[in-house]
Amino acid sequence: MTGKTHASVGLCGAAFLLVTNVDIKTSLIGLGFVVLGSYAPDADLKVSKAGRVISDFVYGIIVLVALYLILTYRFHYDVLGLIGNNKMPSELKLSGAALIVVSIILGRITGHRKYMHSLLGFFVMNLGVWLIVGNFVIWFGLGYALHMIIDLLNEKSESLLFPFHQGDICFSICNSTGIANLIISTVAYIGFLYKILSIYNIAYLQKIFIK
Ligand SMILES: [Zn+2]
Repeated sequence: MTGKTHASVGLCGAAFLLVTNVDIKTSLIGLGFVVLGSYAPDADLKVSKAGRVISDFVYGIIVLVALYLILTYRFHYDVLGLIGNNKMPSELKLSGAALIVVSIILGRITGHRKYMHSLLGFFVMNLGVWLIVGNFVIWFGLGYALHMIIDLLNEKSESLLFPFHQGDICFSICNSTGIANLIISTVAYIGFLYKILSIYNIAYLQKIFIK
């Protein structure tokens, strides 16, 4: 699946599971972490050979930068202040960053859908993110978990129990390119919009976004 598809599924999952429980400020920043978590497992892809992968990652970066700019300049949120406001000592934040960097390196060495798509990789990556951003890890973790679940649908197996091969699994229901991406992301975006509009009505969204 492409990163775009994973991001749409992550956003839909977050709308149903997380957005209802928090204020709009936390939600908007949280949605950024969902997108980040939805892309994260595929940091183990070899970028060099596939233009598609690069454009897909660029799309994710554009979404995140746009969200950051809107929250900072339109909503006047102190985004980095809110993310960093978790009383985690800076040594622990640094260890978190180290865990993430080591994980990505390990993911690239072991190969696509190995360490980064395993329960071990999920745990270490989320531990790293938690040490840096505190509770926003719930959003990141949801995006990451849904990515791993959606990847199970296609033909290349995931090493869920890495480093052991016993957990290599896939359901071979669909191809990772083409029509499956379109169907999954369309359904996910419709679900996302439906749920968001049932939580915040259109008049309210117009008021805060268009003013
Ligand atoms: Zn993947």
